[in-house]
Formats: sequence, structure tokens, C-alpha cells
Amino acid sequence: MTTLLVRNARVLVTMDEERREIAGGGIFVRDGFIEQVGPSTALPNTADEIIDLSEHIVLPGFVNAHHHLNQSLDRAYPPAQDGTLVDWLKGLYPRWERHEPEDTALATELGLAEIALSGATTVADHQYLWRKGVTADAQFESARKIGVRFHLGRGSQNLGQPHGGFAPPSLLEDDDDILARTSETITRHHDPSLGSFRQVFVAPSSLRTATPQLMQRSADLAAKHDVRFHFHLGETRAEIDFVHAKFGQRPAQLAQELGCLTPRTWVAHGVHFDDGDVGILSRCGSGICHCPSSNMRLSSGIAPVSRYLKNGVTVGLGVDGSASNDSSNLLTEARTALLLSRVMAPTAADFLGARTVLEMATRNSARLLGRRDIGSLAPQMVADFIAIDSNRLEIAGSEDPVAAIVFCTMARVDHSWVHGKRLVERGELKGYDVDGLLERIHIRAERTAP
Ligand SMILES: [Zn+2]
Repeated sequence: MTTLLVRNARVLVTMDEERREIAGGGIFVRDGFIEQVGPSTALPNTADEIIDLSEHIVLPGFVNAHHHLNQSLDRAYPPAQDGTLVDWLKGLYPRWERHEPEDTALATELGLAEIALSGATTVADHQYLWRKGVTADAQFESARKIGVRFHLGRGSQNLGQPHGGFAPPSLLEDDDDILARTSETITRHHDPSLGSFRQVFVAPSSLRTATPQLMQRSADLAAKHDVRFHFHLGETRAEIDFVHAKFGQRPAQLAQELGCLTPRTWVAHGVHFDDGDVGILSRCGSGICHCPSSNMRLSSGIAPVSRYLKNGVTVGLGVDGSASNDSSNLLTEARTALLLSRVMAPTAADFLGARTVLEMATRNSARLLGRRDIGSLAPQMVADFIAIDSNRLEIAGSEDPVAAIVFCTMARVDHSWVHGKRLVERGELKGYDVDGLLERIHIRAERTAP
């Protein structure tokens, strides 16, 4: 048994049921789980480890609900810099076809290192390219090296160039293989216990890149194994037109009909949902991961997030892949969500507030992942939390330092802990060899240079 006492925070943002913000607050932790939360004077005086966070704002660790970590070595790729989603895909597929399995593991490690520094303590990765040799074992090993909780989306595509789509045949899989390998990945890696560091979700890519049969069978498989289900939906106007032309329905209608929208589902993007679509998602209990930087980068559009929230849809936050963001940074993503919600908003009532965005990045994203043990600081939750020094230059002088975290540009948290264990210390990953990672990236770049 080990205990940890965190005390004297300038403000402790709990994100609990009452959304309490406690001046001078702290938490008492035993074996990675929170036992008590409250004013520091009401907490025990002793513990195996005591951390004084005077002058710091303390929040639950951020939860990233949508990523494609394998793109971390493809940032600002020249053939994919200036196009919409389809041009971008066409630009990148030749490069993705050349990726070696070790490139995927290296890219995952890089993306996780970067996002951890921005305050992420849990990351969901939607990995839908499984060329020969890419393994879930290697993905989870990359996450273990960094120290974050990792949710691997065993994704898939069975439509590509041979069917008038975009992916080359080498990056497509056969339906039966997909389902067998997904089942195997869940059985081997999925840990549903409280405090879990490894989970698996089922994640066909989209209605444009997976057949209705595969979508349906994948949703059934997720239900059978009682894991989460995830895919891209309503990302672009072109997707709406494609599905309508082919199936005579809007994508959300088709997805519902296929059994793909249930309480275990969250979809990525949801930029183009009309009132009917929002009603479907709300009734089905499915959530949305908002990825504002990617939506801007690819000119996909502006997701009307406040409308979704008002209709009772859970909306979390994600950075999307590193080739369309091109960063893995939840602090800057939160700020982008705040700012983008104001562009074209009908009235100020449709603006997202700073605390709403923080809630999306913590509680809401945790709900999307089906986690009951992360996303807020309350008894029985795990001790995943971040701390930002309110005396930092970027937010100095603000009377509302909690809001300033989102309104002002900050790239890194000062400290973070996962399961009561230090992840980031003074803006650096504790015990992790960043120089070694950069050296491996350099060697890889030399090997793949044209
Ligand atoms: Zn995506």
C-alpha cells in the first residue's frame, strides 16, 4: 500500500458531478486510486509522498478520444499539404504503403510522447491500416514506454482502389480476416478492469471505406465482446453526398440501420449533422469526438458543437491524426475548439466556454471511451491529474487562471501523474529518453530518404 497526498493547489478543478473548483484543494490517493478530495485542511496530514502544488491549477488528466498515431511521421507532407480530405488521402497513401511495421511503432511512440506533454493521460488511437507485420503488441509496447493509458482501435478497411476508392490493395483486408484478427486483439489485450491501462475497441474506418456488411458485423463483434465501437461519420460534405448517392440515405440514418449507433458508439468528427442526424445520435446514446484542427486543416467545416451538447449528445475532444492536425497537442486543441465555436456562430449563446471545452477534454472524452474511472477527480477515480503553474508567462495576470488555460496559448503542462505515478515533471517526460527517440527518427529518415 502506498499513499500520495497532493495539497494546496491554487485551484483544484474536479470535473465531478457538481463541477466543484476548490481553492487550496488537494487529493489523497491510495495505490493509484483517489480516496479523498477537498480543501487541503480537510485531508490527512501524512502520506508516503506529499506534493505541494501551491500556485498550480490542478485538473483531471486529458483524454484524447480520436487519433491516428501512425501518421506522426507524416506531418506537413508536401503532397498532402493543401488539399481537402480526398486529395489529402490520395497524397498520403503512396507514403503509407511504404511504411514499415517498425515505422508504425515509432510513429506511435512519437505521437504519444508529444500528446503526453500536453496533458494527455489516456489516448485512444484509431488504427485502421494493418499492413503485414504491424501488431497490436508493438502499439501497446509503445504506449507502455511512454506511460499513458492506451485504447487501441482495431480498425479496418475493405474498400479501396479496386472499388473506386483511395487505399491501395496492400492496405485492405478481407472481412473474415478483419473480424478474426479483431477478436484475437480483444482477447489478447483488452482489460476492462478499473484502472486499466490497455483497452481495445472495434473501429472500421468509415462508410466510404468499409462495406455495410463489414460495418454491421463489426458492430455485432463489439457487442459480443462488450467493447466500444468507433468510426468516422459526417466528416465532410462529400461523404454525405457519396452515401446519399449510393444508398439513398444520410450517413447517420444508414449507420443507425446497420446497428452501428448504440450507447457503446462514439463517432469521429460529426461536422455535417442536420437536426435529424442529431436526433438519431441523441436517441441512440452515441457520442461525438470533435477534432477542430483537422476540420480546419482539411476544409471539412465547422462542427456545431454547442447544438450537439444542447441536444444531450456527449461531445469529447481529439486531435485526429498527425498528418491532418499536424500536432498531437490537447492544450492547443482545446483552444482551437473554443475559438472555432465562435466563427459563424449564430449568437454568443452558441460559443463554447473555456470550462465546457475542459469538460469535453476530460469527463466527456472519458465517457466516450466508456471509462467510469477517469475524467474527474473524485473518490474511487484513478489519480490521473495534471498541474499548470499559474505564474507561467503565458497566463500570468489572469484573474481566472482556469479559463486562461484555454483562452491563452500553452503547449505543455508542468506536471502530470497517471495512476498516482509521475508522467511529466517540469515540462519533460520523466525517465523517458527523448533524445534517443529523436535519434531513431533521424535514422529512419535517412533510411527512407528518396
Ligand atoms: Zn480520423
